[in-house]
Amino acid sequence: MKLIFIGPPGSGKGTQAKRLAAQHGVPHISTGDMLREAIAGGTELGRQAAPIMASGALVSDELMLGIIDERLAKPDAQRGFILDGFPRTLVQAEKLDTIVGDSKGNGSGNGAGGLRVLQLLVPDEAIVKRISLRRSCPTCGAIYHLESAPPAVDTVCDREGAALIARPDDNETAVRKRLEAFHRQTLPVATFYKAKQLLREVDGVGPVDEVFERIEKSLS
Ligand code: AMP
Repeated sequence: MKLIFIGPPGSGKGTQAKRLAAQHGVPHISTGDMLREAIAGGTELGRQAAPIMASGALVSDELMLGIIDERLAKPDAQRGFILDGFPRTLVQAEKLDTIVGDSKGNGSGNGAGGLRVLQLLVPDEAIVKRISLRRSCPTCGAIYHLESAPPAVDTVCDREGAALIARPDDNETAVRKRLEAFHRQTLPVATFYKAKQLLREVDGVGPVDEVFERIEKSLS
């Protein structure tokens, strides 16, 4: 399985991508998580990415391409992967084609190396509310929604017992900017894959389990 998840911020793509990866035994590769790890680790990449991420803008293609090139070369990604948050621009999509596409051709004949793309559809109105109720575990990265998928106890991670936090770019100003970046820079990526007939669209509104079922059905 080589799958790309496309969806606006707060569409639930991280949650669904993690589940799907666990179910299919392939790595869940989230460029957002990788950047947050770089920030937490105080690396040069983290220092460069932190202010851009906090503003809600996209990190440069150049930086992202370096990260993804390295990650997809690792042994665990050779059998497949679920990409969450990449590609987010046409430049990134075209580069991904050269990484997994013709160069490693698997005979699919579409020049995309067996890639499939799933777009989660969630209207903008639903996004801001979802994001304001989103919390995550700083230790294990588990994602909760205080209304629809709350932790068992207060605002503490079910697995780690760590106090849950809101992401620094989950404030209203940054969310508006992230939505704008999604419409302007990432939706053309969906169109790019639609033209290659690799795109499946799935309604992302509803309980997590129901959306997961729709995703599995659309991929089967
Ligand atoms: P996410 O966790 O996927 O919502 O990503 C959080 C933030 O990381 C985004 O708002 C961007 O600033 C940055 N980011 C993650 N992936 C990419 C990417 N493929 N291209 C550019 N910026 C990215």
